[in-house]
Amino acid sequence: MTASPRGLARSLVVAWLAVLLAAAQPALAWNAAGHRIVALIAWIQLDETTRASLSALLREHPDFEHWLASGNDPDEDRRAFVEASTWADDIRKDSRFYTTGLDQPTATQPGFPDMERRANWHYVDPPLADASHRVPGAGQLDRQLPELIAILGNRRADRALRAYSLPWLIHLVADAHQPLHTASRLTPGGESDSGGNAMMIHNPFSTRQPSTSLHRYWDDLPGPPWLRDRQIESTVTALLSRHPQPPTPAGPAQWIAESRQIAGQFAYPDEELGAAVATISREFHERSVAIANRRVTEAGYRLAELLKALVGDLPSSSGRPARSRPSTEVSRETAADGARANAGPSPAAGQRARRSADAY
Ligand SMILES: [Zn+2]
Repeated sequence: MTASPRGLARSLVVAWLAVLLAAAQPALAWNAAGHRIVALIAWIQLDETTRASLSALLREHPDFEHWLASGNDPDEDRRAFVEASTWADDIRKDSRFYTTGLDQPTATQPGFPDMERRANWHYVDPPLADASHRVPGAGQLDRQLPELIAILGNRRADRALRAYSLPWLIHLVADAHQPLHTASRLTPGGESDSGGNAMMIHNPFSTRQPSTSLHRYWDDLPGPPWLRDRQIESTVTALLSRHPQPPTPAGPAQWIAESRQIAGQFAYPDEELGAAVATISREFHERSVAIANRRVTEAGYRLAELLKALVGDLPSSSGRPARSRPSTEVSRETAADGARANAGPSPAAGQRARRSADAY
């Protein structure tokens, strides 16, 4: 049977969509530029004590040298901090790591708890219509942020584990501010669109990626992914002058709730009736750029406040307490330097970290 011209056109469209969907792997984050912008904004807000503590931890991370080699910023500490912000995405292409269900587990290398890529840490995107609907094993962002905060805030926790957790925290604070990392829509057939990953759009305002998924469109709004060093700096200067006031620090639950609200109100373009691919309008695009710019700036400010609270009063390298701590705490902290360093959080440290998790 020969296909009618209309039928042929339709199958061509279907084939073209299939090619597009195959090319578009599910995106997992603001793109690299977005993460570097958030990290640099945070770094600018930090005091020297906090910077020193963070740099000491990053120097203990197995991939520290790689971060140094990735940028040109003459300030090594700032360079490592900014480059570490994309590490959680970079390991997706790194053969030392594996994805459960897709790969055989790889050998655990020194300094890592294991080599799992933890792709489901980057998001938590239940349907906008039903926040309580969670697929088992899917997005863990809302659960992992408090865990990472607790580890970083616990000075008795294993140093290697804290060094491992820091790039994750830098990364996930940013992801929590990306509206489509926190929400999905259901298709008419009741399937999740995975934070807009399954929704194709046409973006006439991009020559680089005019055809992409709605999720990737949002990931790319802060700027093209190759922005580094001076270009990130000038972007950050512009963002900080546009948004000079830090937002309330709030905490992971609040950041995610804000993102979900934005997703529900603003993240999806109105679809033309019957169109397979929604076209981004100028109005939608300008509003989305403004939202994305505000969200990465808020994430940067909040990351700084969080890191100050978690490690700000620590000296740079030993895990010993600051002089101003009460003496009872000093003796407990000092004891933790030795054999107990791996023993996990004490009830008091757990409570303190939990408070940090609630506050930020
Ligand atoms: Zn991510």
